[in-house]
Amino acid sequence: LFVCFEGGEGGGKSTQSRLLQQWLEADGHEVVLTFEPGDTEVGKRIRQIVLSPETGELSNRTEVLLYAADKAEHVDTVVLPALRAGRVVITDRYVDSALAYQGAGRTEAVAEVEAVNRWATRDLRPHLTVVLDLAPQAGLGRFEERDRIEGESLEFHQRVREAFLAMAAADPDHYLVVDARGSIEEIHAVIRARVAAMLVT
Ligand code: C5P
Repeated sequence: LFVCFEGGEGGGKSTQSRLLQQWLEADGHEVVLTFEPGDTEVGKRIRQIVLSPETGELSNRTEVLLYAADKAEHVDTVVLPALRAGRVVITDRYVDSALAYQGAGRTEAVAEVEAVNRWATRDLRPHLTVVLDLAPQAGLGRFEERDRIEGESLEFHQRVREAFLAMAAADPDHYLVVDARGSIEEIHAVIRARVAAMLVT
């Protein structure tokens, strides 16, 4: 089982992915909890480049390819080996973040960003993507320090949000959209119910 958490900033992806991991482990599953960008040695360096404000201007194409390189390393060395070993993999961000941030946010051609990312990930797709949906005004307010992306305009973050919602609406069998304004426990319960239903089928 391969589950992704997606959504804008401050929606609680890391909290919810951890809670899902704990619940699955208590149910007897072996779980690998991971994230993008940056959960490999090479990925850490890529994360530094794409997110440090010191990087300054970066061509959009360079940004697309750096995130895709992080993903290729992540899929080949972390995600696929774990899935092959029969583990559940939960990742905090995946391909949809590229489509939303680089595609919709930076307004690069989504079809091309998608093609690059499909190649980078060997077209490995999640069984379920949980979108933690939150208005950018609310999400960004949770941080004091901003990385390169968090400092982007409100319009940028609104395009990102709309892109996640549109992907989810187009493929409801593979998506769960949860209002991130709920309590941590309420949100966890909704996610748990959906994953539990997948485990019995
Ligand atoms: O999830 P986390 O906050 O660690 O994400 C790191 C940053 O990378 C976020 O600011 C997110 O907006 C950005 N990002 C991006 N494009 C991606 C993936 C993440 O701009 N494809």
